[in-house]
Amino acid sequence: VSLKSLLASKYFPGVIQWPTFILFVLVLYNLFLGTADPAHNFGSVMTWVLWWPALAVLFLLVGRLWCTACPFSLISDVVQVFVGNHRSVPRLLRDYAIWIMSGMILVLTWAEAVFGIADSPLATGILLLTIATGVLAAGAFFERRSWCRYLCPLGGMAGIYSRIGIIELRGSRETCSSCVDAVCHRGTRSTPGCPMFESPKVLKGNDTCNFCGSCVKNCPHDSIRISSRIPSSEIWSFQRPRLGEAFLAVSLAGVIVAMNLLEVSQDFFRGFMGLASFEAGFTAFYLLALLLPLALAVVGAGAASKANADSVRQNFARFGYAFIPIVLFSHIGHTQVDFLEKGRLIIVPVLSALGWAFAAGDAGLAGESVVKGLQITLLCAGLALSLYSAYRIAAAHYGKNRGFLSATPFALLLVGYAILNTLLILHD
Ligand code: SF4
Ligand code: SF4
Repeated sequence: VSLKSLLASKYFPGVIQWPTFILFVLVLYNLFLGTADPAHNFGSVMTWVLWWPALAVLFLLVGRLWCTACPFSLISDVVQVFVGNHRSVPRLLRDYAIWIMSGMILVLTWAEAVFGIADSPLATGILLLTIATGVLAAGAFFERRSWCRYLCPLGGMAGIYSRIGIIELRGSRETCSSCVDAVCHRGTRSTPGCPMFESPKVLKGNDTCNFCGSCVKNCPHDSIRISSRIPSSEIWSFQRPRLGEAFLAVSLAGVIVAMNLLEVSQDFFRGFMGLASFEAGFTAFYLLALLLPLALAVVGAGAASKANADSVRQNFARFGYAFIPIVLFSHIGHTQVDFLEKGRLIIVPVLSALGWAFAAGDAGLAGESVVKGLQITLLCAGLALSLYSAYRIAAAHYGKNRGFLSATPFALLLVGYAILNTLLILHD
């Protein structure tokens, strides 16, 4: 069964939406009414040991397909059927969506660390319900999946990560160029138009397509093709890179450092810059971890601007995308720690029921050396892809010699970033 025929099926996306929605209800029930011990709370384990580590891997493998399975998108659809006002999304929100989504993910990541949300089933439940409230409000007021496209805290991250993804959905140029119906965007009687406000006719990136399949069903000319591609090839060919996405990519690089350091030692933050409490010390470090890579990338953009004569802003926006592969692979490496160290919490009950005996006690799926080895391997793969991307971006816009000089400041930053993370991962 090809992915396209799956998307064309009348059972899709229901076949993935309803199971995740039922699971979501079970998760919420357990978060609010289950044990307060996060290691034995079904909701906590499913959220932080399975879903969160799986998410970044899914973005790499199948782009934003998760967004179609996401229970929040189903909630939004159902709300629209009953109380939807279907208003247009305000221009301001559309224009600044990436900044709003970036701000929310950066604040949420900070809050998760400072308030220990992952360690508290109740706090996790409150976080999910708060997001659900936003989804309800956006679904009740605005048309289509406004929440997913313009407001979801995960949306900005999902957008830039899925640009690295290895599959893409596009309309065939020849077929779409002669099409005047554009029912892929408008919809038909049987299937609504693109929930993400897109049309495959002009779709250039994976950031706004969640593989919902509506256009596959609606297109009367069978124009849609789904194909595999080299990871990150999308970011080499941009004509108009977006500053907001580059900002998010570089900021997330800092977030990964803060999270890797948090893994090494909580004590480091107590006393950081003379601040006594963990909360204050972590907040100060987090701000520094966000600002320093941004400042260094601006310096890199300044150096590149001398080589290619484009503005610092243009260079920042263009080469900021080269950070995405290393950030995505580091993110996968970081979150796999949770999965590999606590993964047995998910599978032991299942395997035990099947008669497969695991030694009791240790909840890990792999030893520390395997976990660290995997993190380093992913970091190296991300670095290689980022370096290659930086030089491909440069070559596409500035030719061989000027391109080499333009990309080199960012290549140095990327190598320095990889060394720093390697030291943190290897630290005992
Ligand atoms: S995808 Fe189909 S409906 Fe949409 S513009 Fe192309 S040919 Fe027309
Ligand atoms: S382009 Fe729109 S309708 Fe087509 S799969 Fe992507 S999100 Fe769905």
